[in-house]
Amino acid sequence: MIVFTKTKYDKSFGSLKCGICGNHFKKNSDIYISKKNIGFICEMCMKEFSKEEIEEFFHLFNQYGGHFGKFEFSKITLDEILDEFFNLISYKDNTDIIESNLKLRHKALLYGYTPKELIVKIQDSIKK
Ligand SMILES: [Zn+2]
Repeated sequence: MIVFTKTKYDKSFGSLKCGICGNHFKKNSDIYISKKNIGFICEMCMKEFSKEEIEEFFHLFNQYGGHFGKFEFSKITLDEILDEFFNLISYKDNTDIIESNLKLRHKALLYGYTPKELIVKIQDSIKK
């Protein structure tokens, strides 16, 4: 479990962006730093996501790049992202499925879909 320290953003930090949403920090805004030094997080993301989610986001963004909501979510629906995933894994072996699963979660984040939204969508598609 990652522990975050809250502090105020000032010039001594230089020009920093939130590691989750990619927004620049505003002067005197709250900034969260983890002891694991995985990155800096803004107040909005801290409120929006659980610590487990934040940790997972950092791993995905470190591995594949980008940030949460990098692209407009209107450009692609969750259904389309899932269809792509299911088409991809239908002819792959197990190793690739793990990798494809990570990429699925990463892609959903890039378009601003939360892990909760993705899970609900997957559950819905299984019921059909
Ligand atoms: Zn943020």
